[in-house]
Amino acid sequence: MTESQKNFMLQAIELAKEGMLAGNGGPFGCVIVKDGKIIGKGSNMVLKTNDPTAHAEVVAIREACKNLDNFQLDGCEVYTSCEPCPMCLGAIFWARPARVFYACTKEDAADAGFDDDFIYQEIEVKPSDRKIPMIPFLREESLKAFELWKEKGDKTLY
Ligand SMILES: [Zn+2]
Repeated sequence: MTESQKNFMLQAIELAKEGMLAGNGGPFGCVIVKDGKIIGKGSNMVLKTNDPTAHAEVVAIREACKNLDNFQLDGCEVYTSCEPCPMCLGAIFWARPARVFYACTKEDAADAGFDDDFIYQEIEVKPSDRKIPMIPFLREESLKAFELWKEKGDKTLY
């Protein structure tokens, strides 16, 4: 790692500590960098905003995309104080940055009481058998939205 990369990660770790001490949420921080400059940063805001999706990575991705005025993080680097949870992993893949650096592992997070392993396990389970049952219905009706999308001439693919 270069000195500047180390510096970005240290900032993500600092955000994790600051946010947690301020009572905003868990001890997680994230910094997003493009061309050597920070374009988005965040700490876990779940408690402060009553938003279960306000993980550090999601907060940082939202800010970075707003600053870039784009829904993709082309050529960006994500520095996160901990290995992303399944939700953030998904958000990162949708945002498509170039690479992700992480400090703590998900095992470290589990040891601190943030165990997301059950979510990884739930992905493998049949939807109706999940701990939160997922029940399909009205598919034919909903397919009409996809038909409209397929026919839409001026759509932006992503
Ligand atoms: Zn997460």
